[in-house]
Amino acid sequence: MSEDFDLIVVGGGSGGLAGAFRAAEHGARVALLEPGALGGTCVNVGCVPKKAMWLAADVGHKLQLAQTLGFDVEPAPLDWPTFIAHRQRYIGNIHESYRKRLDAAGIALLPTHARFVDAHTIECEDGLRLGAPQILVATGGHAVRPDVPGAELGGDSDDFFDWTSAPGRVAIVGGGYIAVELAGVLQALGSRVEVFARGPRLLEGFDLDLTDQLTEDYRQAGVHFHFGHRLEAVQSAEGGLRLHAADHTVSEVFDALLFATGRRANTASLGLEGTGIATDARGHIIVDALHATNVAGVHAVGDVTTNLALTPVAIAAARRLMARLFGGRVDNTLDQDDIPTVLFSHPPLATVGLTEGRARAQFGDGVHVYRSGFRPMLNALADVPQRSLFKLVCVGDERRVVGIHLLGEAADEILQGFAVALKRGITLQDLHDTVAIHPTSAEEIVLMR
Ligand SMILES: Cc1cc2nc3c(=O)[nH]c(=O)nc-3n(C[C@H](O)[C@H](O)[C@H](O)COP(=O)(O)OP(=O)(O)OC[C@H]3O[C@@H](n4cnc5c(N)ncnc54)[C@H](O)[C@@H]3O)c2cc1C
Repeated sequence: MSEDFDLIVVGGGSGGLAGAFRAAEHGARVALLEPGALGGTCVNVGCVPKKAMWLAADVGHKLQLAQTLGFDVEPAPLDWPTFIAHRQRYIGNIHESYRKRLDAAGIALLPTHARFVDAHTIECEDGLRLGAPQILVATGGHAVRPDVPGAELGGDSDDFFDWTSAPGRVAIVGGGYIAVELAGVLQALGSRVEVFARGPRLLEGFDLDLTDQLTEDYRQAGVHFHFGHRLEAVQSAEGGLRLHAADHTVSEVFDALLFATGRRANTASLGLEGTGIATDARGHIIVDALHATNVAGVHAVGDVTTNLALTPVAIAAARRLMARLFGGRVDNTLDQDDIPTVLFSHPPLATVGLTEGRARAQFGDGVHVYRSGFRPMLNALADVPQRSLFKLVCVGDERRVVGIHLLGEAADEILQGFAVALKRGITLQDLHDTVAIHPTSAEEIVLMR
């Protein structure tokens, strides 16, 4: 049994890599165990390839606008293999950069699946056993499909990234952010998309006004929605497959089916049984505010915990944890309030803080809401009807800004700076005291009254 390390990191995704690098910066001797591609979900089958596909769809949309505005261009379908070659080259460069940085930092990379033998011993696939005073579990999660007959006929978001063309007719099962993002990309790249959601609306937990408008935008773009849909079975049919629902309705025939029906923590094959490390009913490792499990010396970050499943959350948690363990910064904890996030829909939806609904539940009549609906300049020039909707949720007489919700062109890039401001506790008056940048969409935020 090797005892050469101060820290063993299990999983080389967003959280694991961030933790390994930061611990090494603080002088720790680190082993990183990762059987798959470096970068985990985000780099290989999540944020990065997803954003690449979103950008391709966006370029396609801009080509249409360009033609309307007088450019001598023909909107043409995307040649997926060409685009995918660019996408994968970009991802390959990220892998290469990680490899160099791991070498430079002196981190031992072991390309192996890892499992606990006991709470302080990790076993590699070849039988090698490692021990260290500190262990970080960052094994992420995986997509799950509904347990219905024929589910194997569909794919999940991982499979989507293997596609080399847009299917003619696609069914997407799910109503969360991955379903909405994939629907937007596929529709923009030429598929006929139908979304089958169990709930009465899309994007539970996002602001209602914005999700209503986004749903309408998608409908206008040609996406069909089936809400309250209870999938009972998927069956092969001539030319494709059909979805059967609990109310006996049967869908039309689709060429392809994607499930975006949730994700589960990667703990099943981690050997936690003999360790005493506590998990919840869905298999997430339970951690406290310091990302410590109930077993001393064992920590967890990222999607394997119940923290918000976002790359920057996993990274921020891992860096702070390492600052505490190896950098002497005992008070360096992650504040999980007011985490901004962007849904890469078409147009994008960006959000930070409380939705109007949550604010009203918390502050009652003390809530003041400001909205701005407008057509971004490019859409107005090209006479495209799609409008943006920006919304501020404020509380109290001082109108403290507790929520910023943006749907529209460039919302993804606008929000970050305003998220800083919200976190600093700004009021509506602070926004009004800031001179607008004209002509932009962002100026609407400081002009709302
Ligand atoms: C389609 C999609 C789109 C997304 N888009 C965004 C986005 O736009 N923005 C955003 O912030 N987040 C996005 N996310 C979420 C983001 O990818 C995750 O929150 C993030 O990757 C979590 O990081 P992690 O380190 O917890 O896990 P992961 O990145 O999943 O890494 C876990 C790693 O652990 C390894 N592993 C698992 N078990 C073991 C084991 N037993 N031994 C050793 N290694 C193991 C895995 O191989 C994997 O590499 C998206 C996710 C998906 C699925």
